[in-house]
Amino acid sequence: MAQACIFCDIIGGKIKTDFLYEDGDVVAFADIRPIAPDHVLVVPRAHHATLTDAAGDGGPALLGKLLKVAGDLGAARGPEGGYRVVINNGAAAGQTVYHLHVHVISGRHFAWPPG
Ligand code: AMP
Ligand code: ZN
Repeated sequence: MAQACIFCDIIGGKIKTDFLYEDGDVVAFADIRPIAPDHVLVVPRAHHATLTDAAGDGGPALLGKLLKVAGDLGAARGPEGGYRVVINNGAAAGQTVYHLHVHVISGRHFAWPPG
């Protein structure tokens, strides 16, 4: 981690947060400002600022793990197994926290195309 990172602080225990899931590679916790009735973030323990960075440095195993955990959480938490998975990559896409994370949102209708 080159500079202060709120998700590294959460993963490191500096900011107390309940993990909904954790293993050696990833953690999952509730989004502090949920945009849906259920909103979970799946986050790699290793710091990669963006998906682009992780695709370059993290390799397919890490990316596969993130999606696997997102899929399991979404299926378990989404009504009738329905959920949406989102990764915002870069400012133009609305990324605000520069530590890769997968949003898993469910519990309401999601329009397509997204805004
Ligand atoms: P993004 O805009 O894709 O970078 O998403 C960042 C997300 O992190 C937002 O949905 C925030 O609400 C969420 N967030 C920021 N700080 C925290 C925190 N301390 N605990 C949980 N979620 C957070
Ligand atoms: Zn970080």
